[in-house]
Amino acid sequence: MNEELLESAYTPGVIEPPLAERWSRKNPLTAAPAHGTKPEYYVLEMLPYPSGALHIGHVRNYAIGDALARYFWMRGYDVLHPMGWDSFGLPAENAAIKNQAHPRAWTLANIAHMKSQFQRFGFAYDWSREVTTCLPEYYRWNQWIFLRLFERGLAYRKKGVVNWCPQCATVLANEQAEGGFCWRHEDTPVERRELEQWYLRITAYAEELLRDLDRLPEWPERVRTMQRNWIGRSQGAEVEFRTEDGGVIRVFTTRIDTIMGATALLLPPEKSAAVAPTEKIGHFTGRYAINPANRERIPIWVANYVLAGYGTGAVMAVPAHDERDFEFCTKYGIPIRPVVDPDADPAPAIAAMVARAEREGFGKGTVAYRLQDWGISRQRFWGTPIPILYCDACGLVPVPDDQLPVVLPEHVRLTGQGQSPLAADPEFSRATCPKCGGGARRESDTMDTFVDSSWYFYRYTSPHDDQRPFDPAAVARWLPVDQYIGGIEHAILHLIYTRFFTKAMRDLGLCQLDEPVTRLFTQGMVTRHGAKMSKSKGNTVDPAELVDRYGADATRMYVLFAAPPEKDFDWQDNGVEGIHRFLARVWRLATRPAPAAKGNSGDGACLRKAHQTLRRITVDFEGRWHFNTSIAALMELVNELYAHDAELSPAARASCMRLLLLMLSPFAPFMAQELWARAGEPGEIALAPWPAYDAALASEEQIEVVIQVGGKLRARLAVPPGTGADALEAAARAHEKIVPLLAAQTPRKVVVIPDRLVNFVM
Ligand SMILES: [Zn+2]
Ligand SMILES: [Zn+2]
Repeated sequence: MNEELLESAYTPGVIEPPLAERWSRKNPLTAAPAHGTKPEYYVLEMLPYPSGALHIGHVRNYAIGDALARYFWMRGYDVLHPMGWDSFGLPAENAAIKNQAHPRAWTLANIAHMKSQFQRFGFAYDWSREVTTCLPEYYRWNQWIFLRLFERGLAYRKKGVVNWCPQCATVLANEQAEGGFCWRHEDTPVERRELEQWYLRITAYAEELLRDLDRLPEWPERVRTMQRNWIGRSQGAEVEFRTEDGGVIRVFTTRIDTIMGATALLLPPEKSAAVAPTEKIGHFTGRYAINPANRERIPIWVANYVLAGYGTGAVMAVPAHDERDFEFCTKYGIPIRPVVDPDADPAPAIAAMVARAEREGFGKGTVAYRLQDWGISRQRFWGTPIPILYCDACGLVPVPDDQLPVVLPEHVRLTGQGQSPLAADPEFSRATCPKCGGGARRESDTMDTFVDSSWYFYRYTSPHDDQRPFDPAAVARWLPVDQYIGGIEHAILHLIYTRFFTKAMRDLGLCQLDEPVTRLFTQGMVTRHGAKMSKSKGNTVDPAELVDRYGADATRMYVLFAAPPEKDFDWQDNGVEGIHRFLARVWRLATRPAPAAKGNSGDGACLRKAHQTLRRITVDFEGRWHFNTSIAALMELVNELYAHDAELSPAARASCMRLLLLMLSPFAPFMAQELWARAGEPGEIALAPWPAYDAALASEEQIEVVIQVGGKLRARLAVPPGTGADALEAAARAHEKIVPLLAAQTPRKVVVIPDRLVNFVM
């Protein structure tokens, strides 16, 4: 028969939607409500921002996580596999400004659409645990946690120089302004402004955040290195320079041994300077300080390349031993004086100079971090209101717990201009002071949305708890997350904040964890025509179109097949079609009537191939997740089954097909379920046990043993090397070509030479 003709019978557009419908009504893969006898596994994929539609990068992230979750279900685990929405943030607010609507309407409509896409893809999330960060039932706990941090001095307010993105019209955290540009607006230079802001004291955990990176061996080394660099611990010294006008300037230096070569003091600029200047610019303040090591009078300059907040802010310029200082001092005619041998180990000199500074009282050994406290104030509407009141009589007053949540107002005029929208809303701003009963003003800043995502996966464990952010028993049951999957772009933002939150929540007595995630996986990017996909480049692919055309199974399977999951790959337009053709071959093999069997000579080869494939896929799931080779192995198996289809006994055929469907199930759940049902198997294949491979059958190496009857070569056997004499003789006697010969005449003697031959002497 014409294979192509029959392939048209595979119609994912017909078989997938009813299953998607059924699974969204009642998901068979939901974790048991309480701890039982099964081992437990928490698979977590980073929750998306509800921008409107899934993009192909999402599909890759979720196809990896879903395959893994499904595998662990089949392995007999109780698996927690939830999903939610990181749904506060600027795009919703900007859309609301454009459409003159409430950001919630846009956000919830997007969530509804994206959720239907998730379900159409067959991603097995437990939607009864869905978390939506922009709803008061979630963000009230941001406020509650904030108040606990405030009580401990871990949330505080201070005036400082901040990063300001004129496009976002809001403050950015240092992590969001790396390199001097906005993380959302890659060509908008960040400005510096002086504002009063709320901060979380992440620096209180700098040392622990750094040290505990050594306790995360199953995190990619690259991520750990990025975090180490971001925390930026340096051992150094703090030195006091007295100024001629009676002041004191404290300087942090990692090279106190070079202090004799310090020919100027440099201060950071206070306002309106770019963060990462290409040209070094400075101005002389007209003031002088005394170098405490040699009593020399040196000028005080302001220099644009000095970072406010690193160490003490001020630095000493040692142009002979620092390249940037050299460039600066050369430009402005400041003396350059070599004082140490650049090739010598500086450690003894550093120790000696620290000792002298401590003895003479002008300095001391110290540690500094590049990490700064996390500025969480945002002057925007669509975020968690910070639960603080300002009273003229009492000062700064926290909102009492029983008045939480502080909800965002329903009616608001969003313009994207001027001050914070909440500050402009008199109804929101007006409040009563809980201490004195007088009038008070409500804080109008909202929280950075990274606060929301710092603990959302704790909430999944008890998503409907209305007494506390999460149930500690549920957290103890599920956390730390066994496997977290997301993009490398979150290495220093989200992944450092969430570690900080875990440690802070532990110290608040909310949980007993030191680290939230045991194993981290960062998937690669999908590019097209060699470039990152973007609407402006016109090189995006729409997952919805692919699903309509080729089905969800083929689309999710292609993103797993195209490359190992940690690698970037360039999208191939015919890729999904290729997988669709493969699935159509599987479909045809499974649904056509078995051909009239001409014996069982294909059994050995097919069963061996099936068990080899099973071993390979099992090892891949347990190890490096090379799903591309797993899927390639499934293709080879299907080729083998086609090649021997007419030489398979019904039992071997059924066994091979059953294994094939079980192995397909984590990758192509719709097809696997449909064919499972058609084969008369009961229930959900997703809940069937993952089969164990037969180690002897799966042994890669096979050697050929010849079978002689009466001195003539009659057949060949493929067996694993080292197969014993008894097993060889039994296999030879059972061979379809030998059975009739031995039925006619009983052998006088049987000679077996393992790995060589079986000789029936007649
Ligand atoms: Zn921006
Ligand atoms: Zn008051």
